[in-house]
Amino acid sequence: MRKIMAMLLLLSLSLTSAACGNGAKDSIPDGTFEGTGNGRGGEIKVSLTMKDQEVADIEVLENQESEGLSEAMNMLKEEIIATNNLDVDVVSGATLTSVGFRLAVQDAFSKTGADKSLLLKKEKPAPEKREEKYDADVIVIGAGGAGLTAAITAAENGMNVIVLEKMPMAGGNTLISGGEYAAPENWVQEKEAIEDSADLFYGDIMKGGDEESNPALARVLADKALEGAEWLRDEVGMIFEDYMLFFGGHSVERSLVPKNATGYEMIHKLTEKLKETGSPLHLETKATELIMDENGRVTGVKAEYHGQIIEYTAKKGVIMASGGFGYNKEMRAKYNEEMGEGYLSTNSVGSMGDGLVMAEKIGASLVDMSFIQAYPTCDTQSGALLYVGDVRMEGRSILVNKEGKRFVEELERRDVISKAVLQQTGGVSYMFWDASAMEDSGMDVKHAAEYNGLIARKQLVKADTLEEAAAFFEIDAEELKKTVENYNQYAKDGKDLEFNKRGKLVPFGEGPYYIMVSKPAIHHTMGGIKINTEAQVVSTEGKVIEGLFAAGEVVGDIHGTNRLGSNAIADITVFGRIAGESVSK
Ligand code: ADP
Repeated sequence: MRKIMAMLLLLSLSLTSAACGNGAKDSIPDGTFEGTGNGRGGEIKVSLTMKDQEVADIEVLENQESEGLSEAMNMLKEEIIATNNLDVDVVSGATLTSVGFRLAVQDAFSKTGADKSLLLKKEKPAPEKREEKYDADVIVIGAGGAGLTAAITAAENGMNVIVLEKMPMAGGNTLISGGEYAAPENWVQEKEAIEDSADLFYGDIMKGGDEESNPALARVLADKALEGAEWLRDEVGMIFEDYMLFFGGHSVERSLVPKNATGYEMIHKLTEKLKETGSPLHLETKATELIMDENGRVTGVKAEYHGQIIEYTAKKGVIMASGGFGYNKEMRAKYNEEMGEGYLSTNSVGSMGDGLVMAEKIGASLVDMSFIQAYPTCDTQSGALLYVGDVRMEGRSILVNKEGKRFVEELERRDVISKAVLQQTGGVSYMFWDASAMEDSGMDVKHAAEYNGLIARKQLVKADTLEEAAAFFEIDAEELKKTVENYNQYAKDGKDLEFNKRGKLVPFGEGPYYIMVSKPAIHHTMGGIKINTEAQVVSTEGKVIEGLFAAGEVVGDIHGTNRLGSNAIADITVFGRIAGESVSK
């Protein structure tokens, strides 16, 4: 009997301890725990330090996110530590990175063996208090490339400047771009003995935009592009690579490439420079309205900061540099029905066209609003630009459909390819290339983070045989094989009989082979505010609106129907500088 009792006791004890081992602990152990999650560029690995039931520290041990997106991880880290909450909201504009970081932290926490409910949430610290009113000489709306350039220029001309940015970080579309800068007669061209001129560039801008650009504005862009690039290099300290890229529609290779081929270099250096001038950058501050005096002069801006309404007065003027409206589906459809729903966007979530609405309300003229550009080969999940796909611009890949057939000339204009892709099965295209194209272009090295992320997210496959690569995406392998054979024959004969592909044709050789799925996404809005060559805003009556200047993607009439690749960075620099100078006069 005693034996039975003892056994029962033992059994019940072991059951209790099993229950304890299975279930959650009643407190969170102190210590450091590691976890992983998938971000935009692949795996993110973090270490999480817990102390006294609270998140004490988070360290990112490994990640392949681009430099611009790393800032989002810092913001999340601070918020998690401040609130003791592992389910913080994603940072807008950096969704995939945020989700990956959050997953990594949650994974690390799971290693504590404790339940998340033991984390006692702390109140989010109140946003820093702002004044009700600020007075400055110049208010700049938007901290993308155009706004920062304009602000620095005005500050260097002795102006007291404040920059308003609605997002929690500076950068806009400039940050997420490749940052390439078209500049005729530049230093890399000189080194490579490439002949170019401002006239040739001017002709390309006009032709690329179907002669719809305002000739006076296009002329300014062509004439001042080089000066702008030199300013970025010499005054702002931007570092450029020692090679160039050849973008469609340019007569010669003239596009300078910033360090690491991303817009981060430009935004990072401009933000540092702005700091040096002592001009404040008010983040999370959304301009909502332009203020005008009785004479029709713009004298300030109303803005919103965490529910607080702030009035900013601008003695000399306001510079609108709020970017385009590529992320705003409704607005796109309003001006061009075809470009609304159905398209993802490569743009920053901040590109909602706020500046256009504000400027129109006070009588500014908006021009070319229906000219909206799609980029043909973007991420099917996020709409982001895919730099690995630049292998196409090197003439070394073909685009096929699910049926394994080519359907468009691969170096056609962006709009033509985009429309053709949307007509294919699933509205997507498959970019195909071989081992030597990869080796020559170096895309897997230059854009390693993106490359690894694409593989991890199954958007890109590398396979030893063509059949295997095709099977991954359920592409008709027999047809693809025929397509490649035909293409190789065209390369041999020196003429593409199907699509008359421009440039030198290089045949495909040995594997491994690569196939990347992509689809078109809205990339640039050519339309916008009408300005004169001094970056002053012009009204619907054709008169200058005193005190209001505009620069960057918010401006229309510069690129006509179609902006050529790498012309935007030149545009925002040239007109950002002009706006900064004009407002200081
Ligand atoms: P650009 O290339 O013309 O400089 P970007 O897209 O790079 O254009 O930058 C525009 C910036 O303006 C973005 O950072 C965007 O978040 C910001 N912005 C847009 N609307 C507003 C607004 N209403 N108030 C403040 N900032 C804004």
